[in-house]
Amino acid sequence: MAPAYKRILLKVSGEVLAGDQSFGIEPEFLHSVAQQIADAAKDGVQIAIVIGAGNIFRGMAVAADGTDRVTADLMGMLGTVINSLALSNAISRQGVKSKVFSALTMPSVADSFTARAAKAALDEGYVVVCAGGTGNPFFTTDTAAALKAIELDCDVLLKGTKVDGVYSEDPKKNPNATRYDAVSYDEVIGQNLKVMDTAAFALARDNQLPIIVYALDDKEGLSGVLAGRSRFTRVGS
Ligand code: UDP
Repeated sequence: MAPAYKRILLKVSGEVLAGDQSFGIEPEFLHSVAQQIADAAKDGVQIAIVIGAGNIFRGMAVAADGTDRVTADLMGMLGTVINSLALSNAISRQGVKSKVFSALTMPSVADSFTARAAKAALDEGYVVVCAGGTGNPFFTTDTAAALKAIELDCDVLLKGTKVDGVYSEDPKKNPNATRYDAVSYDEVIGQNLKVMDTAAFALARDNQLPIIVYALDDKEGLSGVLAGRSRFTRVGS
């Protein structure tokens, strides 16, 4: 069966790679994420990825001890480069070609990101990992994910999280919270639902980019979500 989407952007939080640790990369979790991505790529969908750095450094946390915010955010962006190299290499080891493009110029580490080069790589069958966030401080990798999804003409932005969709309240705090199958951009704003940060969400809404929120540890993985077999919430108009 032909995949439902031609090209997707997947946002993965850095903390997913740390598994049950609070810092760093646990090989078991790295390989499980890489395998999901490789399986979906083998189904024929083009995949771009943005990964965070919550498992290494978050600018706001570093800045709390007095480090200036621009420096702290550069440290965070460098953390995304480390995660991107690890994830891209793990995907390659699953037998799927993968390439890192960085928004921070570092030619000895990765190709510099341009939408043109990244789209060409996607068309050639590479899983493209976009490192360095937006390349600017005061942003998050959620915003980078929305931006790259639009720049790369992706059909949808998928956000792999610890829960299986968008809820009326945090389901870990309130087990009776309502889970939505589909929700509109306006409902997300009106009901103050937590999907992505404000800048990321505004970009998605203004460009009619649908967002799918799903549980990264779903046993069917990314392929199950793309085939509509798994539980997720779709945010759109
Ligand atoms: N960051 C940044 N600009 C960007 C993206 C990320 O400065 O465009 C920095 C920022 O310090 C952020 C850190 O990189 O805290 C890691 O990104 P994020 O917090 O989004 O990671 P996640 O929570 O998804 O693991």
